[in-house]
Amino acid sequence: MALGGLLVAVLCLAIKVVAWLVSGSGALLSDALETVLNVLAAAGALAAVHIASQPPDEQHPYGHGKAEYLWAVMEGTLISLTALGIAWGALHEALHLEAPAAPWRGALINALAVVLTLLWLCFLNRAGKRQKSAALLAEAAHLKSDVWASGALLLGVALIPVTHWLWLDPLLSAAVALNTLWTGGKMIQESCNSLMDESPRPEVVNAVRQAIQAHGTEALSAHNLRMRHGGSQLFIELHLVVPGPMSVTRAHSICDRIENAIQHSVGPSSIWIHVEPDTAMAKGAAARVRSGELPINPRTTAKAPQG
Ligand SMILES: [Zn+2]
Ligand SMILES: [Zn+2]
Repeated sequence: MALGGLLVAVLCLAIKVVAWLVSGSGALLSDALETVLNVLAAAGALAAVHIASQPPDEQHPYGHGKAEYLWAVMEGTLISLTALGIAWGALHEALHLEAPAAPWRGALINALAVVLTLLWLCFLNRAGKRQKSAALLAEAAHLKSDVWASGALLLGVALIPVTHWLWLDPLLSAAVALNTLWTGGKMIQESCNSLMDESPRPEVVNAVRQAIQAHGTEALSAHNLRMRHGGSQLFIELHLVVPGPMSVTRAHSICDRIENAIQHSVGPSSIWIHVEPDTAMAKGAAARVRSGELPINPRTTAKAPQG
């Protein structure tokens, strides 16, 4: 998948270089130079996906999933820098308005690369969502901002010779710069949130809570439920309150049931359950209020001693 991205990027670079050689257009040259960044970005995504797929080892017992977020932050930075470059170019053009040559043939060849990129990014976007891969989604978002940029460039090349609206080119470039900056900024923000162990989306949290309540029968309640993402893997921990006299074997089988139910509901996850007897409830009351108690078996809870 990521290897395919590298091949597509190299192919697009080749097409855009040909487009520039045929036309000699400065705009098409800068577009080709931007594609060099894409080749680097695709190589980076390839490395990130590879590292993230490595199983946990002695040095990284929680796995390597965060490599993808780290890469997404770098890719977001790359995109933002590109946006600044485009904005700079737009400013320069606005100050030196002049009719560009009409590099029709070059533009047509360049359009081929745009179509290729568009097809690839749709494919990448779907795969990224399916595999919950931050690196693949970042790559798709990057390519999307490139397609906007190239589309605007081609529109300018096609329309200016006909309409003689010289201000169209810098205006389009400025719009593309804003769009690109927005894409890069959003990517950095989202990936930083994941690196900071942000809670999963409310739907996921609710699904986990429901799985605990539906399959933790025999237990009394749960608290200190915490979740975070590490790549496509979810890490979940919680405290489970069971009646004091319950045997370890019985309590463990409840845990196994809850673990299976959660995995079934939200996919592959690493779950850590701390079992405690209901006699500890009074002592843990303050912490419980802070983290929100999740009642599992209200009937039994009512009978249990309250602190
Ligand atoms: Zn506890
Ligand atoms: Zn177990």
